[in-house]
Amino acid sequence: METPRDIIDLRSDTLTRPTEAMRTAIANAEVGDDVFGEDPSINRLQARCAELAGRSASLFVPSGTMANLIACRVHTRPGDEVLLERTSHLYRYEAAGFAAVAGVSVALLASDDGLLTCEAIPGALRSNDVHQPTSRLLWLENTHNFGGGSYYSLAALRALRETANAHGLKLHIDGARVWNACVAAGYSLAEVAACCDSMSCCFSKGLGCPVGSILLGDADFIAAARRVRKMLGGGMRQAGHLASAANYALSHHVARLADDHRRAQRLADGLSDVRGLRPERKTVPTNILFLDTSACGVTAEQLSERLDEAGVRVIAAGPHRVRLVTHLDVSDDQVERAVEAFDRTLGPLVGRKKY
Ligand SMILES: *Cc1c(COP(=O)(O)O)cnc(C)c1O
Repeated sequence: METPRDIIDLRSDTLTRPTEAMRTAIANAEVGDDVFGEDPSINRLQARCAELAGRSASLFVPSGTMANLIACRVHTRPGDEVLLERTSHLYRYEAAGFAAVAGVSVALLASDDGLLTCEAIPGALRSNDVHQPTSRLLWLENTHNFGGGSYYSLAALRALRETANAHGLKLHIDGARVWNACVAAGYSLAEVAACCDSMSCCFSKGLGCPVGSILLGDADFIAAARRVRKMLGGGMRQAGHLASAANYALSHHVARLADDHRRAQRLADGLSDVRGLRPERKTVPTNILFLDTSACGVTAEQLSERLDEAGVRVIAAGPHRVRLVTHLDVSDDQVERAVEAFDRTLGPLVGRKKY
């Protein structure tokens, strides 16, 4: 059941296993049928999240992907267009549900770190013309996964909200890792939530829960979202066991995200210049770190295969791009051991350039 002690798994913060204390909370959860609205643990979680976010309502859903898909579907009509950054999770990793289920088109915007600026918006808007789809929804990701855990400043979010308003766009935030953004930037969930019409947040990433996301918004939005959740098969019954893990995580696993951020920075410092490895950024914004292997003369695939043999798991995210993510199940000691494993693994590979 436990990850063998010698495996250091840096592939994703979704890999965490519930702690003993979380398992106890799960086992002892008060439950009922949530489709009937009678699960006390889910009702408690939804009330707590709405209050934390300063919004009128929230909805517990099985995954971040479903939360995003529901938001897409509720905010748009088929044939509308969503404006989003081109490496957004919605676009790259959610099986095109936006197209298949919501029937929307996308306008893809470019950005170096995944974050959009107000200046990028006007050029991507469609004109009011029968040939064009209707620009309906502005989509932001905070933190941005493929952008290396980058996060928006509050000023940037507020400016984007104003720009969206000026052009009649709804605004959704994919906040799968919004708690990482809150801890790193020092803003509150409510300050972020005040800048959007809806936001999705994952409990199954940095917060260390086995399953679950929350969708936040106003009461009308959440009422519509509840129907779409049912349509998609996401109406769960005694899921209070899952909600109690989320309740536990909100109390115990938010402030500690700072440890993950510190460890990601330590990885970047420890790995920079190890046999030519280059972290993409010297300063790691949150818990995600990308390394560039091109100067080592090895591919990301080769490095990740060899590291695997040394008990360190990473993801090859591009030909020369390796992703590392710190989380609840990665300790300070493991970070140090990972740095040593990179050095040991790369030594023979770099020495023998042909590999
Ligand atoms: C993981 C993730 C999601 C989807 O969450 P799942 O719970 O895995 O479906 C959405 N957006 C971002 C940015 C993510 O990293």
